[in-house]
Amino acid sequence: MSSDRIKIVWIYPDLLSTYGDQGNTIVLERRAALRGIPTETVSLRSDEPVPADGDIYLLGGGEDRPQILAAHRLRGDGGLARAVQSGAVVFAVCAGYQLLGHEFGGEEGQPVPGLGLLDIRSGRGEQRAVGEIVGDVAAELNVPRITGFENHQGVTHLGPNAQPFAKVVHGIGNGDGFEGAYSGRVLGTYMHGPALVRNPGLADLLLRWAVGAELAPLDDSWAGRLREERLRAVVG
Ligand code: GLN
Repeated sequence: MSSDRIKIVWIYPDLLSTYGDQGNTIVLERRAALRGIPTETVSLRSDEPVPADGDIYLLGGGEDRPQILAAHRLRGDGGLARAVQSGAVVFAVCAGYQLLGHEFGGEEGQPVPGLGLLDIRSGRGEQRAVGEIVGDVAAELNVPRITGFENHQGVTHLGPNAQPFAKVVHGIGNGDGFEGAYSGRVLGTYMHGPALVRNPGLADLLLRWAVGAELAPLDDSWAGRLREERLRAVVG
């Protein structure tokens, strides 16, 4: 944490807010506040420079063209890459996840250069992956089974410097039996919308990384009920 508060930077709401991923900022603010940790959230439009002093950067999903434009602007800006070099946390969803990689598929499937902050490459799959996703998270992350919703055409291949975030129990994810990827404190996922509402353990992982310490447990019985309901509906 660079100061007495966690600085959360929501990247490009004008391009990457199509799928309701902005709610993740509210979850992080709330779960930090319940531990007495102040936060400051900056919503950063795509014509503004990316500050390098954020603690957590969030990127959401988006349609193909806004995704290409966002990747182009973030590459030109360079602020996100500098922040990652200084140890910032990045949580990226779907289009945001893909554009962190070396390349992703554009609207005609053409390869589009990404930021190279994650050792992944994405292209277009045969079929759109739409529906519930459930996965068992890499043991070292200490996050319970994830439950979410995916909606993407892209398939993602991991290189040797990226670890799979979770093993798919239900759904498609990357298309290789795994869902998402991480390297250091940069984590991408295909889980849209209220990913951190449904997975408070994942929200706490990002906060732990940002604060650099363990966090006091919270009463998650309501979130737990939602998780149980979704898990029962999807995997029985
Ligand atoms: N355009 C990308 C894909 O279809 C990302 C879509 C999204 O963010 N939902 O794979």
